[in-house]
Amino acid sequence: MTQYETIIGLEVHVELKTKTKIFCSCSTEFGAEPNHHVCPVCMGLPGVLPVLNKKVVEYGILAGLALNCQIADFSKFDRKNYFYPDLPKAFQVSQYDLPIAEHGHLEFDTGEGEKRVGITRIHMEEDAGKLVHQGSISTTTHSLVDYNRTGVPLIEIVSEPDMRSPEEAKAYVEKLKAIIQYTDVSDCKMQEGSLRCDANVSVRPLGNKEFGTKVEIKNLNSFKAMQRALEYEIERQIDVVEDNGQIVQETRTWDENKGITLALRSKEEAQDYRYFPEPDLVPVVISREWVDSIKKLLPELPDEKKRRYIEEFGLPPYDASVITVSKDIASFFEACTRNYPEAKAISNWIMGDLTRLLNSHNMDIKECSIKPQQLVEMLKLLDNGTISGKIAKTVFEAMFETGKDPGVIVEEKGLKQISDASAIEGIIDRAIEDNPKSVEDYKKGKKKAIGFLVGQVMKASKGKANPQVVNDILQNKLDHM
Ligand code: ADP
Ligand code: MG
Ligand code: ZN
Repeated sequence: MTQYETIIGLEVHVELKTKTKIFCSCSTEFGAEPNHHVCPVCMGLPGVLPVLNKKVVEYGILAGLALNCQIADFSKFDRKNYFYPDLPKAFQVSQYDLPIAEHGHLEFDTGEGEKRVGITRIHMEEDAGKLVHQGSISTTTHSLVDYNRTGVPLIEIVSEPDMRSPEEAKAYVEKLKAIIQYTDVSDCKMQEGSLRCDANVSVRPLGNKEFGTKVEIKNLNSFKAMQRALEYEIERQIDVVEDNGQIVQETRTWDENKGITLALRSKEEAQDYRYFPEPDLVPVVISREWVDSIKKLLPELPDEKKRRYIEEFGLPPYDASVITVSKDIASFFEACTRNYPEAKAISNWIMGDLTRLLNSHNMDIKECSIKPQQLVEMLKLLDNGTISGKIAKTVFEAMFETGKDPGVIVEEKGLKQISDASAIEGIIDRAIEDNPKSVEDYKKGKKKAIGFLVGQVMKASKGKANPQVVNDILQNKLDHM
C-alpha cells in the first residue's frame, strides 16, 4: 500500500485593532448597528480619496518583526479587482508584489521537538463587508449587506507549505495567534472573525520530491473546523489518487453541518484579479529608524517567556508552553509568583482546575472572578494545614463562582481542616467498629486495608480531617489492637 504525505500551507487573515479604518476615519468597533460605521470613502463612492492610517503600517511592521520577517524599505498598495456585493468599489486595496514583510518564521513544539514553519509574506489590505443570506442556500430569498466592516484593516499572513498534518496546522495557528495577541495588534477572536484561516492542502506518495496539486479550503472559522476539514480533504484526495484520478486545483468550502468540503471554483474559473498599483495612494517608504523604534515596542514573546519560566521558576517545559500560550494567563501566573515561591504549584492550579472551569463556562481568564492574590492565599491555607488538598478544590470552585476570598469561604462553609487528634479520634473509633473485616485484613498482614479505613474517616469528616493525622492515629490504634 502506498503511504501518503500531507502538505499544508495556510493563509491567515488578522483584523488589526486600530480605532479607525484603513483609509478613512470611520470607527472599527465590533457589533454596531449595520451600516452605521460608513462614509463615502469606505463606501467607494466616485471621486473620494483614501488616506492611509499610519497605525496600520506600524502594526504591520510590529507583526512582521514578531514573526522574524524582513521589513520592506519600500512597499506599495495594489488594486485587486473583482465584483461582489460585499465590495462596493468592485476592487479591494491590497498588496501584490511589494508587501510590508517577507521571509519570516515561527516555531512550535510538536512533542518530538521544535518545528519551524516559514512565513512567506505579510501584506496589508482592507476588509470587505459582510453578507447575511436569508434562508438556506437553496431557499435564499434575499441577502443583506453590512458595510461596517468594509475598510477595516487586515494583515494577511501567508505560510510556506511546511506543515505535514492537521495537528501541525493547528499548532501553527495557535502559535501564530499567541504571538499576534502578545504584540497586541489584534485580539484574534476566531468567533468574531478577527482571525480567519484558509488552508491549502495536497498529498503526495511518501518519498516523492514534487508536491501534489493543491486545493484551497475556505470558510474555516474555528480550530475544530480547520482540523475536520483538513482530515476530510486529505482522505478525499488520497481516494482520488488511489482511483488513478487527478486532483483538480480548485477552491473548496467547508460545510460544517455535512462535515464535507465542496467545490466552489476550479483554476479555470479562477478570477483574474487584474492587479495594478493603486493610483490614489503613494508608496510607503519605511526608514530603518522607524523600524528600530517599533522594535522597541515588541513585548517579551511566548518563546522568550517560556525560556525564562524554565530558567527563573524551574517550570517543566510542558508547563511553560501551556502557561505562555496566552498573554493573560502568563500575567496571571507571574502575578501569583510575586507572592508565592512555588511556581509549580501555581501552574498546576492554572493548568488544572482553573483551565477546566474557564473552559466549561466558556470564559476568558480576564473575565474570571478569581484574582491571582486569591489563588496565592488559598495555596497558603493549604500549606499551613488550614485546608486539605481535597477541600482546596471545593474552595477553588467557590472562589470561581463567587469571587470571595478563600479565607471567607473556609469560614462561611466551615471547611477548616481538623488536625486536632481528639476531634479525629472519635471518628476513627467508629470506623474501626463499623468495619471489622478491614481491621481483620490489616491484622492478617494486608497492610493496604488501612487505605479503606482512612477513606471512611475522610468521608465521615466530609473531607475535613487531616489525612496525615488520620493515618498516624489509625496505624497506631491498629498496631496496638
Ligand atoms: P496562490 O497563488 O494560489 O494563492 P501561492 O503559491 O501563493 O498560491 O500559495 C498559497 C498558499 O498555498 C501558501 O500558503 C502556500 O504555502 C500553499 N501551497 C502552495 N503550494 C502548495 C501545495 N502543493 N500543497 C499545499 N499547500 C501549498
Ligand atoms: Mg491564495
Ligand atoms: Zn469610512
